[in-house]
Amino acid sequence: MVTPRQRSAKKSERSSSRLPLLKCECGAEILLLPDLKVMNHAIEVHVLEHRKKEKDPDKAAAAAARVRKILIEQLLRKASEMGK
Ligand SMILES: [Zn+2]
Repeated sequence: MVTPRQRSAKKSERSSSRLPLLKCECGAEILLLPDLKVMNHAIEVHVLEHRKKEKDPDKAAAAAARVRKILIEQLLRKASEMGK
């Protein structure tokens, strides 16, 4: 669960780089690309990495769902920011 209190990384997010990146909970960064199909693929590839780390199928499914949500939320937010 992510509470609003935990969303304090805004400063570093903006100053780090001009390239928009999606940042995963594991620290991995995925470059934001204008092609939604490519973007979706990149997210799924990373989600799969998390899934592979968990041996328990229930945990793997939970981790995959969580990571996908984190990345897609950022994707939507950054996509709307770029459109302004
Ligand atoms: Zn990750």
